[in-house]
Amino acid sequence: MIPASNAVVHSESTLSWQQEIAQSLRTPDELLNYLQLPAESIHEITGGHRQFPIRVTESYLRRIKPGEPNDPLLRQILPTVEELELAPGYGVDPVGDCTALRGNGILQKYHGRVLLITTPSCGIHCRYCFRRHYPYREHSLSSSSISEACGWIASDPTIHEVILSGGDPLMVSNQRLALLLNALESIPQLETIRLHTRMPIIAPSRLDVILVERLLRSPLNIVMVLHSNHPNELDHHVERSLKPVAGSGIILLNQSVLLKGVNDQTDTLEALSHRLFECGVLPYYLHMVDRVQGSHHFEVTEDRASQLISKLGSRLPGYLVPRLVREIEGEPRKTPI
Ligand SMILES: *Cc1c(COP(=O)(O)O)cnc(C)c1O
Ligand code: SF4
Repeated sequence: MIPASNAVVHSESTLSWQQEIAQSLRTPDELLNYLQLPAESIHEITGGHRQFPIRVTESYLRRIKPGEPNDPLLRQILPTVEELELAPGYGVDPVGDCTALRGNGILQKYHGRVLLITTPSCGIHCRYCFRRHYPYREHSLSSSSISEACGWIASDPTIHEVILSGGDPLMVSNQRLALLLNALESIPQLETIRLHTRMPIIAPSRLDVILVERLLRSPLNIVMVLHSNHPNELDHHVERSLKPVAGSGIILLNQSVLLKGVNDQTDTLEALSHRLFECGVLPYYLHMVDRVQGSHHFEVTEDRASQLISKLGSRLPGYLVPRLVREIEGEPRKTPI
């Protein structure tokens, strides 16, 4: 681990993304120490991290204000005692993923597209994540099941789009990803490959030349849906890695989760949309938080969410207003609010 004093001097990362991920901070002590938070706060954060460990890159931590316990980026990664409270209506599989499993890492809920659990790993652990309880490790795609998964997809002519998700599909090496892309590109009816990833936000170096060139060589449409919740996440390193991709023909979109204490203000959401656009990214979805055990303290009421989105709509051009949605088990689409 790199001590805080060093980190301040190191404004530019020279590490590869693999090194950055390998050097992630993983304990409450490391986090408190790095961010110069009072040692007393340790009792508040112990507990949650045993259920779902802390994981965050130094690159992300550099965007958090030291000594500020309510920083909106810190709140996304710091476990709190509230995570251990059991709230009524909050389960371990709130969006019905278990019933949507089709084997070999495939999840199918909607017409025309399937989601592939490319890997169970993520480069950051977001405290509100619905995946904290889910047995993704058992249900993700393994190298040996790529051809079976592709066979299954090929046998259904209605499927035109495959979404690589996880976990985070960009946690996989370029080499492994290329094997998967090669296999997918040989499915005749596929038109689009979409990647759902938070990696460019937490380790901007992930968008390396080899990856981007491989994506651009694809005969299919490539859509990358990022996951950013706050304008402070989009620093100039992130902007510098996104801009060339945006200009290359890969479609860049963003989904956010509406989180109490993080981005539940019109000003914040407005600034996020503007900042995304500066980086070459269009807002896509604003999700209501999934009702997973341990996330109830992030919930924004539907009334408040509707008010926020309506105010946002009166301040921004239509193309910068994300669609406010909730995922409801059994529905044929993400449900608009
Ligand atoms: C969210 C989701 C999708 C994508 O939905 P879009 O509305 O196309 O963005 C696809 N499959 C599954 C299983 C999903 O959860
Ligand atoms: S990056 Fe996405 S999948 Fe991974 S922990 Fe965060 S919200 Fe969950």
